[in-house]
Amino acid sequence: MLKLKLHWQILIAFILAIILGITIPEHSGYVRWLGDLFLRALKMIIVPLVFASIATGVANIGDAKNLGRIGIKTFSYYISTSLLAIVTGLFLVNMIKPGIGADLGFKMSIPEMTSTTGSISDILMRMIPTNIFQALYNSDMLAIIFFAILIGYFITQVQKNYSDNLLTLFNAIFEVMMKLTSFIIKFAPLGILGIVTGVVADQASDKAKLISMAQHLGVYFVTVLIGLFIHTFISLPLIIKFLGKVNPILHFKAMSLPIITAFSTSSSSATLPLTMEAVENDAGVSNKISSFVVPLGATVNMNGTALYECVAVMFIAQAYGIELTFMQQIIVVVTALLAAIGSAGIPMAGLVMMSIVLSAVNLPLEGVGLILAVDRPLDMCRTVVNVFGDTCGAVVIAKSEGETLKV
Ligand code: ASP
Repeated sequence: MLKLKLHWQILIAFILAIILGITIPEHSGYVRWLGDLFLRALKMIIVPLVFASIATGVANIGDAKNLGRIGIKTFSYYISTSLLAIVTGLFLVNMIKPGIGADLGFKMSIPEMTSTTGSISDILMRMIPTNIFQALYNSDMLAIIFFAILIGYFITQVQKNYSDNLLTLFNAIFEVMMKLTSFIIKFAPLGILGIVTGVVADQASDKAKLISMAQHLGVYFVTVLIGLFIHTFISLPLIIKFLGKVNPILHFKAMSLPIITAFSTSSSSATLPLTMEAVENDAGVSNKISSFVVPLGATVNMNGTALYECVAVMFIAQAYGIELTFMQQIIVVVTALLAAIGSAGIPMAGLVMMSIVLSAVNLPLEGVGLILAVDRPLDMCRTVVNVFGDTCGAVVIAKSEGETLKV
């Protein structure tokens, strides 16, 4: 494999794809299949990855409940800040409307839309499968998530020897899926080459359309960045100032190493050791709190990913010319939260999990192809927000437990 860093490989593939798509659109078939293979590989791992990560996530939450007070506080903090991030994204994407008018010419490829009213009873029906194997077979995400949540919870409710075995099993599956995901992601440059060449070639006959597409993608990119900026520099600082009684500027300074690492690795998990170290040594949070709040946060608390899922899915809907009802937007909010909770702390995990949100509102999974090109830089930025959110959680919880902090 090339030694060049993945984001450089992606950038090169992207530029090459544009050149190929514009200059020899009639030969795009030679590389298109690479994109199809890449998307197939992503789809291949979605079901086991989602199932294993949500089941283990919830099983760990079940354990956390036994930790009582701190557990409940931590989860309330994680869920409310993630929701705040999602709502910020939803507001921006509805205001800026980056995808409206993009007319990407994809409409033909939209698979049969199942007629769904999006009503509560309809969602409930889709959530509870009559046959879980059929749901797995059909990649019926809502049903799979619901079942995974139940399994995760009830793992904690059975005899210890059973629950230990099951937890080990699911954790093992999850670890393997993470490894497999990282392996597939190595092929992202080739996948991007295929997808982008195809997209550009399809549009090459119409230059105006091509430019308009790049513009829309650019506006989408900026929309996510503005959202991440607001959450990192306004929402979270206000929260740590008022709830944690911490000086946000000093906190930023103390967290600079994990922030830089998160940016360059695009991985909350890889950054975790540094995050823990900084939270304990530089922010002064006790080991008791940090060893619980921070690792849990690296897996379940992803403010940046949550915001991004919401903006990306709304952008895809807009680009396909599909207007989502208020109820469907609520589904986007809820499933974006689940997707963020379920995302592993590894590069581009959020992109893989996006299928949950897309399928919940019946958008084609191919929509991911639209945003792939700018995903890596956004991944770097959202990972920073994910990690920073965990550190804010740690100081807020520590303060509420009466600890004295250094910042
Ligand atoms: N890369 C992100 C993280 O590790 C997850 C994502 O892809 O959104 O936090």
